[in-house]
Amino acid sequence: MSTVFFVGAGPGAADLLTLRAARILGEVDIVIWARSLVDPEVLTHAPQAEQIPSDDKTFDDVLAVYKRAAEEGLDVARVHSGDPTLYGTLHEQLGACRALGLDTVIVPGVSSLSAAAASLGQELTVPDVSQSLIITRRAQRTNMPANEQLQAMAAHGTTMALFLSVRRPRELQQDLLDGGYAPDTPTAVVYKASWPDEIVFRCRLDELGVRIREEKITTQALVLLGPALGDGAGAGQSHVYDPGYGHRYRRLGAPSRYKKKRA
Ligand code: SAH
Repeated sequence: MSTVFFVGAGPGAADLLTLRAARILGEVDIVIWARSLVDPEVLTHAPQAEQIPSDDKTFDDVLAVYKRAAEEGLDVARVHSGDPTLYGTLHEQLGACRALGLDTVIVPGVSSLSAAAASLGQELTVPDVSQSLIITRRAQRTNMPANEQLQAMAAHGTTMALFLSVRRPRELQQDLLDGGYAPDTPTAVVYKASWPDEIVFRCRLDELGVRIREEKITTQALVLLGPALGDGAGAGQSHVYDPGYGHRYRRLGAPSRYKKKRA
């Protein structure tokens, strides 16, 4: 049975590919990949494969490749930017592949969200400050479910990461303010995280629209905002390393089993 592997290629930098992804790329017969989103260096792992760009193709064109794979007994790697399970058009492809009798396997990747946080040099869940992260997007051409309108999501006031949302930055800023974020909410933008031409900046929420326009960013950027993006004031310490907090590897009042084993 042929398999379609949905492979996460990571945020951009070719060395942010997982070992599993590299191995599978080296084993398949066909690689389908988006030239605009994936570094061509990633394809050096697949010298044996027929390489088909997806960015000039419709869904039906890609489907035709899956059909050929099913008929000829070929394995395919469909390469997605970041992690395939986030805004990856995966749902429709999984359904189509399964309908064709193809086996499907998802290979996780490093999301651009992780790369953006790394570039900002910070944690997205800060003890006592913010323990929740809303991952969402602004409705552009894609409709949002009624209960997920941006203003409603913003009303939580927690840390938020916005994919696919920089095309209309002034409207984005307004929706977030209308939802209840304060004008001085700490905000950051990461364009092309982990690529050589990456841009990172921080601003207040009420400067976001102007700053994105100034930088001429219209795509391939994440917007992060909310309490975790602040200066860390009020942050507590995680319980995990607290001397008064015991767990399986560090029991309270008893010498650590881990240390004993190593001694
Ligand atoms: N599956 C991908 C997201 C695909 S949707 C992931 O996990 O990252 C495409 C959107 O992802 C872009 O519009 C942008 O919002 C974000 N994105 C992808 N790569 C990015 C990068 N290197 N830097 C910043 N944002 C990126």
